[in-house]
Amino acid sequence: MIKDGQARLDAIVTSLKERGYRITPQRIAVAEILARNDGHPTVKQVHDQLRRRFPTTSLVTVYKTMSLLKGMGQVLELAFESGSCRYDGLVPYPHPHLVCVTCGEILDLQVGITDEVAGEVSRTSGYRIVGHRLDFYGVCPRCQAGE
Ligand SMILES: [Zn+2]
Ligand SMILES: [Zn+2]
Repeated sequence: MIKDGQARLDAIVTSLKERGYRITPQRIAVAEILARNDGHPTVKQVHDQLRRRFPTTSLVTVYKTMSLLKGMGQVLELAFESGSCRYDGLVPYPHPHLVCVTCGEILDLQVGITDEVAGEVSRTSGYRIVGHRLDFYGVCPRCQAGE
């Protein structure tokens, strides 16, 4: 799994341009926040960061931008049963995650098992696999230590 924030930022901006979207300073700032964040932020967290530079930007604007980027395949949305959604703009394609059930931290799992699994699923079912979702739930070392 390659994590290159600058390459991701370039890819998001190029993708917006190719589809004829206006490249506003706010859109670039959202792209930057996503491209440089591997902590899987919520829309609210992206909005909080954005407001440091653009204090008047509304949460609705951020929702719209995230939805736009999601539609272009430039951000991966991770929806949870609790109703919360987290976003990965640094690694926008399906990949396994580790979720701490205590503090809500989400990490990318550095284990390349899903390609193998997807291949196996495809072979045994005849399906052409277009996506997958694999989350491991647990308690992170910090929460285990009672911090
Ligand atoms: Zn934790
Ligand atoms: Zn991720």
